[in-house]
Amino acid sequence: MKKAQGPGVLPGRSDPPPAAPASRPADGARVRRPARRPTPKLRLVIPRRTAAAAAAVLAAVLLAGVLPAALGAYARPAGTTPTASPKATRVPGTATPSAPTASPTVSPRPPQPTLAPQVSIAAGGYRVWPKDYAYAPGYVVDPAELASRATGTLPLEGIVVVLDPGHGGQDGGAVYPVSNKAEIVEKTVALDVALRARDALVALGAEVVMTRADDSWVSLYKRIGLTHQAVLARHAAYLEAMGSRAWPDATETRRLSALVQPCIDVNSDYLNGKGLGVFKNYGVIPDVRTMFDIDRQHADIVFVALHCNANDSPKAQGLSVLYLDTKKVYRTERSTGGNPTYSFYDDENRVRFGQALYDGIAASEPRLVSDGFVQPLIDQNLAVLREMNLVGVLVEMGFVSNASDRAVLLSDAGQANIAKGVAAGVVAYFRGG
Ligand SMILES: [Zn+2]
Repeated sequence: MKKAQGPGVLPGRSDPPPAAPASRPADGARVRRPARRPTPKLRLVIPRRTAAAAAAVLAAVLLAGVLPAALGAYARPAGTTPTASPKATRVPGTATPSAPTASPTVSPRPPQPTLAPQVSIAAGGYRVWPKDYAYAPGYVVDPAELASRATGTLPLEGIVVVLDPGHGGQDGGAVYPVSNKAEIVEKTVALDVALRARDALVALGAEVVMTRADDSWVSLYKRIGLTHQAVLARHAAYLEAMGSRAWPDATETRRLSALVQPCIDVNSDYLNGKGLGVFKNYGVIPDVRTMFDIDRQHADIVFVALHCNANDSPKAQGLSVLYLDTKKVYRTERSTGGNPTYSFYDDENRVRFGQALYDGIAASEPRLVSDGFVQPLIDQNLAVLREMNLVGVLVEMGFVSNASDRAVLLSDAGQANIAKGVAAGVVAYFRGG
């Protein structure tokens, strides 16, 4: 959902973190620039977020570094056959169904010299970013193979989909009407649709990781941490199975995973609550950059957050898919007086994935196609898209404040259609084109 958020003042990179006596979780962590609305008057019908939450958001923005440079198609060496089948790590404590054992879509690269971290004394012993390259891939995905597989009977075999149902627990998200007897609560719809989408994706061969599978509150940074850990575990297992010496190696990958653990354990988005853990910095610190470099190698993992929209006007209606591109992050970073700190976001595929999901849902549930109030695709700076480097999007399924959308969002048929549309969109994305 969209939360109205005070413009605030983005602190400079060298500024101390803003005080954040948050009384509410930093839901959404959307960064909205003053005097600029990314979409037509989207406003919440629920209470405005607190300044503290905004502060958390602002700090989070500064973490991001980004940049385009699509993962690129790593050619699969002729005659090589993968011998390992990395599996996605399922989030502890969440019930995820067993997915069919997927043969790997990854293939080993020809032997390459181990690439040690690039260290710059001038930069305090850290690598200087961005550079032309980050870490050489130790996990290689062949998009052509993914595309050919996507035409088979189990089109998503070997694919991992991280499903992130928005809100949960004490954070209901958008509600309508705003009262204790709301007819619709965003967190419930998000979870219901996510569970249906999980089933649809698993039926197509995908492995699914849920950031939550029940009505519990999960901080933004716990969602981000869980996702990173799923990627890192898959990465480490793959390196070990392949006997790869690529850097970062399995040991380093596990060290990074341990760094994220406090973000998960604390489960807080409050700046002063250590909830951001390793993400609690300005700019993208080296360890986070390394995680981003690992994330970007896993082109067979996608991230989908599911939310509902809301607006003061009951006429506001329709589906939209939010993505984040490099320009948006750089603009934000520069507006704070900082410089971009990371260079390898996959802009091209994020947009392509967003379009594929939009098309899939719109075809499956045409009633959610907007009458023009919202654009199909919206570029927006969101924590869950910014603090990880997977191809991912956030789906605003429809407006809880609109009668037509509400009917769809609350109905069995509507939820099933959206779930089917998500699955179809994922297949279309991997099929390419
Ligand atoms: Zn939401």
